[in-house]
Formats: sequence, C-alpha cells, structure tokens
Amino acid sequence: MKTHNDLRELLNRIDHKGYPAYKDTRGSYQFDTYMLSIDHVQGDPFASPSKVSVHVSGKTAGFPTDLFQEKHKRIALQDFLLRKFSKEAESFTFKAKGSGKSGLMSVSRCGQEILERTACEIQQNGTVIIRMEIGFPANGRTINSRELIKILFEFLPGCIKKSLLYAALDHQAVKKTVDLAQDQQFIREQLPKLGLAAFVANGSILPRESGVSDRPMKQAVPFHSPKSMEVSLLLPNYGTITGMGIKQGITLVVGGGYHGKSTLLKALELGVYNHISGDGREYVITDDTAMKIRAEDGRSIKQVDISMFINNLPNKKDTIHFCTEDASGSTSQAANVVEAMEAGTKVMLIDEDTSATNFMIRDELMQRVVNRNCEPITPFIDRVQEISQQYHISTILVAGSSGSYFHKADCIIQMDHYLPKDITEFAKKESDAFPIPNEPAPLASAPSLDRMVKPDYGFKKNDRIKLKTQGKDSVLINRDIIDLRYVEQLSDTEQLVSLGYLVKYAQLHMFDGKKTISETVKELCRLLDKKGLAGVCEGSYVPGGLAMVRKQEIFACLNRYRSLKL
Ligand code: ADP
Ligand code: MG
Repeated sequence: MKTHNDLRELLNRIDHKGYPAYKDTRGSYQFDTYMLSIDHVQGDPFASPSKVSVHVSGKTAGFPTDLFQEKHKRIALQDFLLRKFSKEAESFTFKAKGSGKSGLMSVSRCGQEILERTACEIQQNGTVIIRMEIGFPANGRTINSRELIKILFEFLPGCIKKSLLYAALDHQAVKKTVDLAQDQQFIREQLPKLGLAAFVANGSILPRESGVSDRPMKQAVPFHSPKSMEVSLLLPNYGTITGMGIKQGITLVVGGGYHGKSTLLKALELGVYNHISGDGREYVITDDTAMKIRAEDGRSIKQVDISMFINNLPNKKDTIHFCTEDASGSTSQAANVVEAMEAGTKVMLIDEDTSATNFMIRDELMQRVVNRNCEPITPFIDRVQEISQQYHISTILVAGSSGSYFHKADCIIQMDHYLPKDITEFAKKESDAFPIPNEPAPLASAPSLDRMVKPDYGFKKNDRIKLKTQGKDSVLINRDIIDLRYVEQLSDTEQLVSLGYLVKYAQLHMFDGKKTISETVKELCRLLDKKGLAGVCEGSYVPGGLAMVRKQEIFACLNRYRSLKL
C-alpha cells in the first residue's frame, strides 16, 4: 500500500497545476495509526467536496468488544465517536484561502436523536471508519496543495488521535453512553412484555427550547406520572426507574389548550428513537413501530384501500383502489391510517391539531340531520376499537375539543399544567350520561394490501440518476419530488438522503411487476439489516451523509412517490 510519504510527494508535485491533477490522489495511504482513503475527488473547486475516509484498525482503536458487539451499543458508540470527531473538526477554525469550497471540511451533524450513520462505522473486528468531505483547495482553478497538506498532515491526525482512539477518550463518558443505550434497549424490549405502547419516565423534560431548537426547554415542568399509571423498571445500569406506562389499547389525552398535550405526543413520536444524554427524553421510549397519523391535503394516493373509512363517493370513485394526485384532508388521513397498518405499525399517534375533523368525528346533531347513507365517511371514531381489537393496533389520541372519544377510550389522561392526571374513571362516569346516539358502524373487511409495482424501464435506462434532498422536506429523484414534509417522524436530513438511495435501489433492482410494495420494503429492510446503508449505495465507495430509516418511513416514502408505476 502507498504511504503518507507517497501522498505528500504527489501533493507537492501537483501544486500549482490545473485542478484535474488532484484526481491522481485517489487511493489509500497508510499513516502511522490509520489508513487515509481518498474515495472521490471533486471535479472542480465549486463542485461538491471530495470524499475522504479514515480507517483505524480495531487493534489501534482499542475499543473493548463488549462496547460494540451488540447493535444498540455499537450505534451509540458510533454516535459518540462521530460527535467527538465533529467537535474536534469544528475547532479547526483554519479556512484555507482560495476559491469555491477550498479547505472546507465537514462531517455529519448529529441532532438529539441517536441514529446509525454512514459517517461513522465500527466494523465487527473493531475497525473504526469516519467518512467526511474535504474541499480540495485551489486558487481559481489552480491547485493549492500546500493547504491540503496542512489539512491532511497536521490537522486531521490531531482530530483522529483525540477522538477515535479509546486510549485518548474519557472511559467513563464512553461507558455512560453505552450504558444508556443498554438501558434504553432494555425498556424498549420490556414494552411489549408489559403490554405497554410507551413509557415516559418521571423527571423527563418533554418541551423543546423553541420551534427551531431541539434542545430541552430550560425551567420546564418535569414530567411526573399519575400514581395509577406508574410503572417501575429495574434497568441494567440506571437501577430502578419509575414513570408513566401507557398501556396498549386506546389512550385519550385531553386537557385545556396550552397544557402540554401536543408536547407529550411529540415526545412519544420521537420516542421511537433513542436520545442522547442530557436531552430530557432519554427515557421516553415508544414502541418503535409507532406512526404519527395526520391529515395531509394534497398528497398523492396510489391504489390504497380506504374503504374502511370512505365509501360511496358521489363521483362513484373506487375506494378499494383509491387513487388521487391531490387528496383531501379526510382521504389523506384515511390513506395514512391504512398505509400505517400495511407498514406494520402497532401504535398510531394522532393529534387533533393536525387531523381532519370530518375524519375523526361526526357529532350527534349532524348524525341526526344527515343520514349515514348520505355520508361517505365512516369516521375514525367508529373504527378505533375495531383497529385495537382486530388488528391489535393501539391509538394514542390527543383531543381537547371533543368528548366523543370518551366512550371509546380505555384510558383517559388529562394534561393539567403540563402534568398528566388519570381521569379515566371520572370521564367514563360523566360520559355515561351522554349515551352514544347511533348503532355502531358495520365491521369493515380488512384492507387489501396487494399493490404490485411495475418496473420503470425509462428509469433504468437513464444512467445519470439525479438524487437531491431539500432538508427534511423532500427527496428529488430525477424530476420527481417526493414530498415528506408531513412524515413527521423523520428527524434528520440524512434520513431523506437514505430514502433517496433506497427508492433508486428499488427502481433499479426490485420493482418487477410481481412484488408488492410490502415485499419490496421487506427485502430492502433485509438488505439494510445485512449490509447496513452501504448495501444500497452502489458506487465504488460508501458515502458519508446517510442515516438509518425505519421500515415505516420507507413505506411512507414509496407511498408518496408519484412516479411509482402500479
Ligand atoms: P396543547 O397541545 O395542550 O395546546 P402544547 O403541548 O402545544 O399544548 O404546549 C403549549 C406550550 O407549553 C408550548 O409552548 C410548550 O413548549 C409549553 N410546554 C409544554 N410542556 C411544558 C412543560 N412541561 N413545562 C413548561 N412548558 C411546557
Ligand atoms: Mg396541541
């Protein structure tokens, strides 16, 4: 293998040459404690920066195997190392002078959630890999390799030594991180055994600092469970932890405006992920198949069987294979429920703030005036028990303005000055005085979920497939925008990058007219399980900048992909 000396010589040789001469640097170079790999060299100073990875052997990195052998611990440790590395890299205030992205060095930015990312990988043998981007410096289009030498030979080695070698790290901090992951995993595994849909520990801080900051709110009222809902768990590291156990079934969250209902629900939505220490939601753990369900006017729907909610449309449209390019509030929410069922969710999370009222309820007076036969919508309230009992899917529903769900709920929580109270008994007694006016809706047949996806030959022929993402809003594939703004449990822009790769992979290799969407997603998940995100990046190297997604979000993305050929 070439060594760092070879790289230094090469860089000295190409100084002041035209930018394309940088291309020769592609390859791997042995440094004293790691291997540096220049995976891809940008074509010009203004193009997206060059891709560089650092590989530290297991022996050199020196992490004890029990810190990374189990998946959840490995992901937490990777996250820890990446944050550490990123912090070191940030302290690098040096910005190479020059054109375009000269000297720009970047690694993934981690938020409050702990996600598996291609930016940091610990392999089975303990090898630690960091994948980053570096803008190779130039003046105009003339190579300035002295600046790159500074980055690669002075700055980078320091970052690596301080952040990727076990010996240089605070062992206590590493242990704390991995211990937390183990405790979080423990709670997650306990949930189904205890018949719980979610757990919120006492003392948790649920609200965030502001609409644009995910950090915990200062001086927030800490969460505290009502006595009747208290559950205690003996965690492997933390010891005994107590909090509110939300049982499987139908849970209603009520309370006055501004008393913290949506904040609780939001925390539950993100409880499908683990959070970093200090976040306040470390021990808010939700069944990790949970899905937020909301109205989503304008989304496209492709052959979804929404007949359990919508029938006999005045325009005679088929609601068993319902299609639209521009859904209404109620049809979009109906599709979101049925698609969530297809995606294997066990918990639906619904907030009245973001729901279509006519999908959720029909009040008594309206039922009297407009006969059921003239109303195409069977509202969610008429199906919520059926969904719970027949499909074993729980619902946690925030509803502050309508008492209709009191009859249906198994558990009723009132948020009162940011603290939950169990008012089930009281609310049930009160609602007995308001009997349900009409007969129950007839049971619906199970939605048919057999959508096959045809191959797209045009897509396969195109050898320059464009992938682009816009923050957490959308994925652009060639000319198609997949709008993911309302897929609210996507927590990181890098997850959208992964979704782009996944859709592209499915288009190229999986859609064949015989596999259903469900089978396609299953196969993609198997691939992710076996090879990680690297499994769907087909180039000659694995790019940094991808973060893991759940099966549920892969479904959500395919379901919103307008060019899918069914
Ligand atoms: P609701 O949905 O009941 O109307 P929200 O959940 O939107 O209420 O909360 C209203 C406001 O109160 C938000 O600005 C939120 O940040 C704040 N808030 C929520 N929970 C707490 C808490 N535990 N302590 C302090 N402020 C909170
Ligand atoms: Mg609200």
